[in-house]
Amino acid sequence: MSDYSDQFMAAVRAKNPAEPEFHQAVQEVVESVGLVLGKHPEYRKAKIMERIAEPERVIMFRVPWMDDQGETHVNRGFRIEMNSAIGPYKGGLRFHPSVNLGILKFLAFEQVFKNSLTTLPMGGGKGGTDFDPKGKSDDEVMRFCQSFMMELYRHIGPNTDVPAGDIGVGGREIGFLFGTYKKIRNEFTGVLTGKGLNWGGSLIRPEATGYGAVYFAAEMLATRGETLEGKTCLVSGSGNVAQYTVEKILDLGGKSVTLSDSGGYIYDPSGIDRDKLAYVMDLKNLRRGRIQEYAQKFSEATYTPVDPLSEENPLWNHKADCAFPSATQNEIRAKDAQNLLNNGVYVVSEGANMPTVPGGVDLFVQEGILYGPGKAANAGGVAVSGLEMSQNSMRYAWSREEVDKKLHGIMKSIHRACVEAAETYGSKGNYVNGANIAGFIKVADAMMDQGIFG
Ligand code: NDP
Repeated sequence: MSDYSDQFMAAVRAKNPAEPEFHQAVQEVVESVGLVLGKHPEYRKAKIMERIAEPERVIMFRVPWMDDQGETHVNRGFRIEMNSAIGPYKGGLRFHPSVNLGILKFLAFEQVFKNSLTTLPMGGGKGGTDFDPKGKSDDEVMRFCQSFMMELYRHIGPNTDVPAGDIGVGGREIGFLFGTYKKIRNEFTGVLTGKGLNWGGSLIRPEATGYGAVYFAAEMLATRGETLEGKTCLVSGSGNVAQYTVEKILDLGGKSVTLSDSGGYIYDPSGIDRDKLAYVMDLKNLRRGRIQEYAQKFSEATYTPVDPLSEENPLWNHKADCAFPSATQNEIRAKDAQNLLNNGVYVVSEGANMPTVPGGVDLFVQEGILYGPGKAANAGGVAVSGLEMSQNSMRYAWSREEVDKKLHGIMKSIHRACVEAAETYGSKGNYVNGANIAGFIKVADAMMDQGIFG
């Protein structure tokens, strides 16, 4: 690390104690941006990096709700409004018991650069709560969402801050949140994305993150004259991102052999075909069951429980060509990264946010594999959210083909921006530096233009 990034990170750690994921996300960006600051001393003078690492606003609130037995519970709600230099704050809501301020700050920080890369006018934000929707009835989830929105509505709006889904927040939760916002504000407006198709949602939004991560992998492979045809892929998670990753891998002629949830993973060497994927969608989205059931249904598959505290996850220890981590942060440890390389994996396209620990990222970069970091590879989701905002403003809906074509075009353009930025700043083939630098410059220039409040 340079003296600048050392000093910068010491200050970030002192100011934001006990937020390791936030430190990790900032450190990666500041190291890449170091390559830019030499050529652009004006950014350093204007303290752009210092300003970007400080949220514009953090909102923290109490969310009381009552369960089906009449017992009262209290959770904590958050919204991090990180940066609005290039557009309204935009980023998902995460409902998961692990949620805390540091995790949401890391996600909001990543979102700033990701949204910048999409080419669309969106600032960065993120929010959520430590409420666990698992095992709750639909009525309980609805009462929770209503209570959450009773506070959040004051801070968001179609031109201010437009939340979407993330872990634990899908179509059901967005529906309850939207209904509550509409009731309070007496206004039907595009304040959330990921809405239902018959009330303002965009076609392809549910598919967008997974499809986008696979399009990004295809672009990386194309730089070596290859395609996904015939490639074996390891996919983690079994939620929104994982499901549509598997679908697009099938479309492009590849074969996915794994899926997981927080209990463990399934390995299906014969491949997850369309019928099996339909089973997973029903299991996860409607029955809200566990991935273990897949191995009970399909005898060719095996299920292995995984200890989340273990240094390695056997999911990443199978022969394959590509890996699509699509569950959560830091799910690929350094040992897992080494196992992936040992098993022949040379394409990693991150559907999840920051799924690889820094030691793993270093290994991928050193080995020169095709490594697409989350803020580039999974930007398809927020890109289609941006398209949903445009459609809502126009009161118009594009066809499935139109949205998919735009998504594909955006992923190609993100890939190109990463490649070009990496080359310009002397780091050819390094998508980590490319994504951080391309994302940073657009936001930094907007902040410079807007003066000290930019
Ligand atoms: P879902 O809630 O639909 O699915 C999450 C999946 O990951 C589930 O299978 C879940 O298992 C598993 N998971 C979650 N937390 C953990 C954990 N701590 N350990 C092991 N497994 C875990 O979320 P999404 O698919 O929407 O999100 C997945 C990732 O993609 C996240 O990192 C998210 O930030 C990122 N992302 C999502 C976007 C979107 O559009 N939805 C956009 C860009 C990035 P279980 O059910 O057991 O909890």
